[in-house]
Amino acid sequence: MDLRNCKKCGRVFAYNGSEICSRCLGDDEGDFKKVKEYLYDNPGATIVEVSEETGVSEKKILRYLRESRIEIREADNLLLDCQRCGKPIQSGRFCDKCVVEMKKEFTAAVKPKYKQPKVKAPSKQNTQMYTAEIRKKYK
Ligand SMILES: [Zn+2]
Ligand SMILES: [Zn+2]
Repeated sequence: MDLRNCKKCGRVFAYNGSEICSRCLGDDEGDFKKVKEYLYDNPGATIVEVSEETGVSEKKILRYLRESRIEIREADNLLLDCQRCGKPIQSGRFCDKCVVEMKKEFTAAVKPKYKQPKVKAPSKQNTQMYTAEIRKKYK
């Protein structure tokens, strides 16, 4: 049995693929549920309110936000920074603009790869001819 110290409470537990023990994992899920339920009832709540009402630390709530598990909808509740441009965002890792731009960049980065063989067509033809020559020889 693989015994480890829980990253959170330090208790020794049987490793099960998670860095924290089942008890802390349960706590975490419980906290998450509390936060989620509170936000469901109070969609306009600020992170301070949520923290005070649920007893869950602001840091933890920020983590849930970062993991896109919850969303705080209040307009000026921009607690996270876009990891690309630094613009304040409400949830996740990137702002909407960056998500769109990254998708564009990704498409742009993928496309040239498919176009490249056409540009280098002459050399490719040579190779094909050469292979054809070899094939002939082996017939
Ligand atoms: Zn623990
Ligand atoms: Zn951004």
